[in-house]
Amino acid sequence: MKKKLVDSIRNHSGLFVIAGPCSAESREQVDQITQALSLNPTVKLLRAGIWKPRTHPDSFEGLGEKALPWLVEAGKKHGIPTCTEVANKSHVEAALTAGVDALWIGARTTVNPFAVQEIADALKGTDTSILIKNPINPDLELWLGAFERFNNAGLHDLTAIHRGFSIYNHAKYRNVPSWEIPIAFNEKRPDVPMICDPSHISGNRELLLEVSQYAMDLNFDGLMIETHPDPDIAWSDAKQQVDANGLSDLIKKLVLRQPDFSQDVATMIDEIRDKVSLLDDRLFEILSDRMQLSEEVGVLKRENNITVLQQEHWNKLISKRLTQSDDYHLTNQFVRTLMDAIHQESIRHQTRIMNPKTTKHT
Ligand code: PEP
Ligand code: MN
Repeated sequence: MKKKLVDSIRNHSGLFVIAGPCSAESREQVDQITQALSLNPTVKLLRAGIWKPRTHPDSFEGLGEKALPWLVEAGKKHGIPTCTEVANKSHVEAALTAGVDALWIGARTTVNPFAVQEIADALKGTDTSILIKNPINPDLELWLGAFERFNNAGLHDLTAIHRGFSIYNHAKYRNVPSWEIPIAFNEKRPDVPMICDPSHISGNRELLLEVSQYAMDLNFDGLMIETHPDPDIAWSDAKQQVDANGLSDLIKKLVLRQPDFSQDVATMIDEIRDKVSLLDDRLFEILSDRMQLSEEVGVLKRENNITVLQQEHWNKLISKRLTQSDDYHLTNQFVRTLMDAIHQESIRHQTRIMNPKTTKHT
């Protein structure tokens, strides 16, 4: 089976970059950025948003169908295949008729199974290359489900794009990366290449290098980076876009590493991994012992009719660990997540002890 995009992502040497403006704004703008990008050999696919799903109705929502030929013409003139976002059946028809090479499904569409199904149905019988962004919420199954809908419609040239997840008021990222989700995705669908979109994760150009490097270190298959001839005056996502020189600088600074290593290095790594594995064994034994102690407390709470949760005790426990996080060279966020997980598990054990009749055994 021919998978045009998947094969070219898998078989390229060096970096695979998808670049182009957040939105197509004029024929000149699209041509100008495409011309500049065509000088960069890592740019293998040209992107431009034609229909823009925006949070607020008064934001720029894309120029629509009339901008499609600008993208297709620029791609042909400068020798780069093109892609754009589609969110419904009529977008699909217009984009394919105009000759766009690949289509991407945006985060606000992946979240909606009806919309995904409508697009998959509209593409049935074609061998269109499709890129599927993660849903805006951190829901791995919803993301996987979108792939299943396309697979069921006979479409197999599918690539994933990780663009981060929307949470309320995050200080650092526009969309938090939650790297464990694309990693879990790879576990389930090793056949699907994974591209990182550092632009929408970062929300500002200062963070692009850090996020891109992180993605490369996790062995992502490529990057999608928004590029504009004059980013500061872009009609959408101005803060996160770079110009073609900015993109080249960023790519030059990236350190590319390979996932495989020599036998000597493998032996050294294995020795350390064995030690890590022993520590993990101890960690699990300790956790198991800890839960047994929690159950003993549970028995006393049951006999004395005391609630499982004593908020003040928990507050003290967590704040003690948080103040120690620096001493252990652990981030506050990790300590918080770990302690929350331990606490939840402990509550589960105690609840089972205290309500033996109503709690299902797991
Ligand atoms: C985009 O790529 O311009 C876009 C709208 O992305 P997302 O769906 O990731 O928000
Ligand atoms: Mn954008």
